[in-house]
Amino acid sequence: MSLSDRIETVEKRIQEACGRSGRSREEVQVIAVTKYVSADTALKAVELGLHHLGENRWQVAQDKWKAISGAVPEGADNPVVWHFIGSLQSNKVKEVIGKFTYIHSLDRLSLAKEIQKQAEQHGLVVPCFIQVNVSGEESKHGLQPDQVLPFLRDLRQLNAVRPVGLMTMAPLEAEAEATRPVFRALRQLRDELNRSGELDFPLTELSMGMSGDFEVAIEEGATWVRLGTILVGKEEE
Ligand SMILES: *Cc1c(COP(=O)(O)O)cnc(C)c1O
Repeated sequence: MSLSDRIETVEKRIQEACGRSGRSREEVQVIAVTKYVSADTALKAVELGLHHLGENRWQVAQDKWKAISGAVPEGADNPVVWHFIGSLQSNKVKEVIGKFTYIHSLDRLSLAKEIQKQAEQHGLVVPCFIQVNVSGEESKHGLQPDQVLPFLRDLRQLNAVRPVGLMTMAPLEAEAEATRPVFRALRQLRDELNRSGELDFPLTELSMGMSGDFEVAIEEGATWVRLGTILVGKEEE
């Protein structure tokens, strides 16, 4: 399938998932995860209208970041917005801040403090998702659900770190339908946190859903889906 066919097919499935759950299409944003493809393919995706791009490792991302920022300058009509979606080492934060707008993997205070430090130097406030390990798998990054409120309290002292929502990854091997409780639990956690009366800003966002399970995630309230394989493909090295 060509890239434009893939994008069209995914778009149709997103619209159908929105329709089934009574949501409007504008509530769901798509992050094209380009970690498996070349800079050329990523740029084609941008030309075809995808302008949120996600990468999970700075090492893999940097050449694409350079190529695309060169081709689509920041002041362009429809500038590319980068999302850092993978686990982030504190010593890579200085590479990422100022290039990636959103961080989806905030899961510890030491990382938040490093983001604060770099963001201050750039004069930025960085919108961050708190990564939550809803499924409880040991291999997964993220806070346990009951650690999120105490963590958010700690973040209040860091004025350049702005928690905007929650992020999770569902078990990969699961069938799409089996992921529903995970996504539902993340939405319920967000709603409870917003009702706690302890947040300076409401958590509006839910970053959940990948190639295998994005429709279920949308039905359960995702506001950002992170799509790699199904949307931009996977190229062999
Ligand atoms: C790779 C990756 C994705 C996209 O994966 P696909 O299954 O190819 O859509 C989404 N989120 C994170 C955190 C990833 O690392």
